[in-house]
Amino acid sequence: MAQANQIPVKQVFEVDASRQTTRVSANVSGFLGTTRIALNDNLLKQCTLPEIRMVMAHEMGHYVLNHGAKLLTYSGIFILVGFGLTRTLFDGAVRRWGNKWGVRGIADPAGLPLLVLILSTFIFVVTPFSNTVVRVTEREADAFGLNTSREPDGMAQAALKLGTYRKLNPTPLEEFIFYDHPSGRSRIRMAMDWKAANLPAGESTTVEAPSSSP
Ligand SMILES: [Zn+2]
Repeated sequence: MAQANQIPVKQVFEVDASRQTTRVSANVSGFLGTTRIALNDNLLKQCTLPEIRMVMAHEMGHYVLNHGAKLLTYSGIFILVGFGLTRTLFDGAVRRWGNKWGVRGIADPAGLPLLVLILSTFIFVVTPFSNTVVRVTEREADAFGLNTSREPDGMAQAALKLGTYRKLNPTPLEEFIFYDHPSGRSRIRMAMDWKAANLPAGESTTVEAPSSSP
């Protein structure tokens, strides 16, 4: 799969996670030539080959689709907007209540609690949106993974395994607010839709051995 997608393979890593947790997990990290895909040993021990192939292909999707650089850019934008908004609200509050609170300006350490309050409120409010950005990216990796591994059953079974620590069937509102990955239900639906759309078109597609008789 790596060769088919022009991913250079120099070394193969396996994360020894089982000493700390029993959770199945995999990820892509690094950039500028240091990128690596890692599958943890729980995944390799607990999952079947189709599941492992699907998870590996999902991670390859993050790699091929440049998700590291994209998410870094998106979070840069979120942070820039957050800092800009914090500065504006902070200055406004100090103009109005600064004397009463004994806060002179943004460089005054006495204003730190107010800065933290404003910034953490911003982060709280944008959580559904930042989660959605990540969730959409994860969905892209799922689609890439399905097309690369061609393992819809593996995807559905892996989604069920993740259900041991992620609620499988949240309401759409719950998924929008809290989920930074598609829910198990969405993933199984996607896998089964793919499977239905990729069924052979009928018995006529069966290739038979060439025969000499007419
Ligand atoms: Zn992912």
